Amino acid sequence: MPDAQANRVKTGTEPASHFDAVIVGAGFSGLYMLHRLRRLGLSVRVYEAGGDLGGTWYWNRYPGARCDIDSMNYSYSFSHELEQEWKWTERYATQPEILRYLDHVADRFELRQDIQFETRVTATVFDEATNRWAVQTDGGGHVSARFVIMATGCLSATKVPDFKGLDTFQGTRLHTSRWPREGVDFTGQRVGVIGTGSSGIQVIPIIAEQASHLYVFQRTPSFSVPARNAPLDPAYVSQMKETYAEYRRKARETRAGVIMEVNPKSALEVSPEERERAYQARWEVGGTSFLATFSDVMANRDANETAAEFVRSRIRATVRDPAVAEALCPREYPLGTKRICVDTHYYETFNRDNVTLVDVKASPIEELTPTGLRTRSAEYALDRIVFATGFDAFTGALFNIDIRGRANASLKRKWADGPRSYLGLSIAGFPNLFTITGPGSPSVFGNAIVSIEQHVEWISDCITYLREHRLECIEATAQAEDEWVSHVKEVAGRTLYPLANSWYIGANIPGKPRVLLPYAGGVGAYRKKCEAIAAQGYEGFTLTRAGEAFSTPPPLPSARIPSQR
Ligand SMILES: Cc1cc2nc3c(=O)[nH]c(=O)nc-3n(C[C@H](O)[C@H](O)[C@H](O)COP(=O)(O)OP(=O)(O)OC[C@H]3O[C@@H](n4cnc5c(N)ncnc54)[C@H](O)[C@@H]3O)c2cc1C
Repeated sequence: MPDAQANRVKTGTEPASHFDAVIVGAGFSGLYMLHRLRRLGLSVRVYEAGGDLGGTWYWNRYPGARCDIDSMNYSYSFSHELEQEWKWTERYATQPEILRYLDHVADRFELRQDIQFETRVTATVFDEATNRWAVQTDGGGHVSARFVIMATGCLSATKVPDFKGLDTFQGTRLHTSRWPREGVDFTGQRVGVIGTGSSGIQVIPIIAEQASHLYVFQRTPSFSVPARNAPLDPAYVSQMKETYAEYRRKARETRAGVIMEVNPKSALEVSPEERERAYQARWEVGGTSFLATFSDVMANRDANETAAEFVRSRIRATVRDPAVAEALCPREYPLGTKRICVDTHYYETFNRDNVTLVDVKASPIEELTPTGLRTRSAEYALDRIVFATGFDAFTGALFNIDIRGRANASLKRKWADGPRSYLGLSIAGFPNLFTITGPGSPSVFGNAIVSIEQHVEWISDCITYLREHRLECIEATAQAEDEWVSHVKEVAGRTLYPLANSWYIGANIPGKPRVLLPYAGGVGAYRKKCEAIAAQGYEGFTLTRAGEAFSTPPPLPSARIPSQR
């Protein structure tokens, strides 16, 4: 049966339906994937657990949430018209602004009609007899698809620590990544924030302005650089828009998907005065380009320590209480090996009379109580507790789905000792299943949108290739997968990342294998590898000839879209 003739979703007692592709997730990845596949004429269904689109930017509504890659870069590049017509207002867009942007994208490309919200994919099983995936959702829906594309997000499976007494707390519990749509007023409240990673660092200064008292429960301090956020200068925006295509092309070739001036000098070859001046200049500019102040900040431990010590000196210069300043100074890991934070007045917040830093490494949280929280050495009365405890990164969202490939083999079992994939895109034994920004690809090591677009385009080109060659299945070979996993590991071993207990290596989740999850070889180099593999007829993949043709292309709403890459 041609897939497009039965592309209705089963709800309740409706009959099962068949699609060319099912996409799981409607964030930046899922939306662009939908757009591309529809342009190919495929019948597509997107399932999204959330009540609306946006992914990260739907869920993370906490006050202060914003991107830390400049807005002009943290946006799609695939449509010239889109990037020309959209107006970002600030250097780093707020969560509401990014959500408005994604809404606009969905309207412009008429995406909503193919997305089913409030529907969680619970299982997907590959049927070797038909070479199709059976997809099951939490509402009892069952559909089948030739391709399944996991656009489930690297940072979407929320981590809530399993504190003793969690449910006994009678105040309000909040998680930064599950923030209520109606917002939260902290005025006059005693608030505890647990966690001082990127989200904690963004939310803390804002809650401090409202709360009667804010307790910040810190286990490991983060390195944070100032954002220097500001309204965008119209002249800068015009100039960027004039040269956008060229700018984006160059960004794709860089290490992190953003153009930043990388100083070719080693931090160790210059005088202390020159070093200080260079760090200070980047500090003034703000943002993550601080990591590129010298060529070896992320490669050499001693060079890294000079940058780390500079940040510590800024903390000491900002925070008036020397004991608090010392407690805020990270010492246990090299700078940048946990995601570097970008803040607005984070360190200054600790000069407020209504803010107390609590070191929960020295005195761990023992339990939540009906009235607050108890550490080993003290009790804190709280009205609200905010968990800024992050995510079960990369694998969390995938493992929440029971994914079964050939011979009913479970992905979770296959990855019990750490993720194994080819290019972070495809998994041996799981034909026609793709992971956008999956483990083993650069993903969070840079501008995620650049990596998302690259994966989406690679996948849609791959599906086009299969169709043109009347092929039914594509599957990574075990050998290619083994070689890629070794390569990812070998590159990781040349970096400083393994030295930190970060979510990059799964250290925030008890029992998670310690593996550097993103690929550290650089966005530009990775793209070239992927392109070369495709150009060689998908080297490292097994391609199977078709027994079934693709569906006849349905009329394309997106045919009205003017120019696309
Ligand atoms: C607070 C925050 C700030 C960030 N800032 C930046 C930044 O400045 N720069 C940057 O490059 N990156 C940033 N990131 C990373 C960010 O996640 C990516 O930039 C990007 O938004 C990821 O898009 P995505 O579509 O791949 O995943 P997501 O946006 O995470 O979307 C995945 C979607 O899949 C859905 N889903 C998952 N499992 C299922 C299931 N089983 N069934 C149905 N639906 C499911 C989820 O509900 C979610 O909506 C940030 C992340 C966070 C949390």
